[in-house]
Amino acid sequence: MKGSCNDAVKATCLWGIIELKEKRVCSCLSQVLARRRRWELFCQRVSIRLPMARRDWIEGMKVVQLTSPEKIEVRDVPSRSEAGPGEALLQPILVGLTGTDAMRYRKGAPTKDGFRSPHVPGAEFVARVVRVGRGVDPTLVGKRVVANPLAPCLKCPWCFEGNHHLCPDMRVLGTPPVAGALQQLFAWPANLCIPLPDSVRDEEAVLLIPLSMAIHIADLTNMPLMASVAVIGCGSLGLLLIEALRKSGAGEILAVDLVAFRRDIAYRHGATLAYDPITAMDAVSRWPRRGVDIAIDVSNASEGSRAAVQIVRTGGRVVIAGIPEDNRILFNARDARHKELTVQFVRRPHDTLARAVQLLQSGSLRRIHELVTHRFPLDQVADAYRLMRGMNEDLIKVVIEMEEPAADDSEAALDPKV
Ligand SMILES: [Zn+2]
Repeated sequence: MKGSCNDAVKATCLWGIIELKEKRVCSCLSQVLARRRRWELFCQRVSIRLPMARRDWIEGMKVVQLTSPEKIEVRDVPSRSEAGPGEALLQPILVGLTGTDAMRYRKGAPTKDGFRSPHVPGAEFVARVVRVGRGVDPTLVGKRVVANPLAPCLKCPWCFEGNHHLCPDMRVLGTPPVAGALQQLFAWPANLCIPLPDSVRDEEAVLLIPLSMAIHIADLTNMPLMASVAVIGCGSLGLLLIEALRKSGAGEILAVDLVAFRRDIAYRHGATLAYDPITAMDAVSRWPRRGVDIAIDVSNASEGSRAAVQIVRTGGRVVIAGIPEDNRILFNARDARHKELTVQFVRRPHDTLARAVQLLQSGSLRRIHELVTHRFPLDQVADAYRLMRGMNEDLIKVVIEMEEPAADDSEAALDPKV
């Protein structure tokens, strides 16, 4: 189709600071579409959401932004109301805060490719699908889902060999430059969304991402049946890991944590023993093999790996899954060499989210919703982060209760007939 038209393209970034405007004359419709596609690809790269039409945006959606260290606020900014091809438009119900979120709150969000921006956190969530894009099953609309926050490129050597959790070009929800789930609406690949049955509570569903990580860690232990395992660090991941190990056929499960409250919770979720680190070392030194078969560090402290090497038996296996804030692990090289240890590092879950949903749906986990110890409404998100920073001893998992978009904004924008 020949002809000419004016194509005014306006891209407004998620936080409403930058406006990019371009006015061009197009000679045919295909050129218009090709140009828009190039803009879409560019905006995906830099995490700018490009409106395809005015109705694809809603004004004044609430978005949580980490603007600098220890400064987090809720802002009203334009948000997408449309899902692109292959995407689902999601409205989060609950968003869980993670140790990484707390670390970024203290230090500020990292930058990528020099692109500095306010950061929207949030990788663990349960949401409702409000719209789907082209090529997506329309019956997904209205369903509650959990979504894998990892979107691999599916083109690199790691993706081709099946290790797409190690993809270097991975887009990770809530990791700069990709905006996270602490916003009222956002789009994410629909093939990463898993519908949830009604029997699963929101407080359980928001723990599915750490549960999928726990399953991946359990997989990497290569644990023989009835092996003895020590879990060092009993935060939400450690406690879910104890549940996963119990289901995987572990024998003795030793929970190690400085906090008595967490050790008590560990007993309720399958630990057979629970000690502080010093008592734990003393106890296992009297065992026939003077240590556990497998020691797993999920403590997010550099001392966790040292404790793991000390508590494991000669010929045992150490799995390091914590992310120390000072980016260091500490263990005695002589101990590790003399014991001829196998050390396994862990980065991200590998296709274990569907198994986590199955495990939760089976009803065999022990009241994991109790791990959600604190809930905050969206407008009090700064209080939630301050609580995380204080590391209260009775804190295991903090979640944010998201709000539905205001009716006057959302009804027109989300009306499927518009
Ligand atoms: Zn890849």
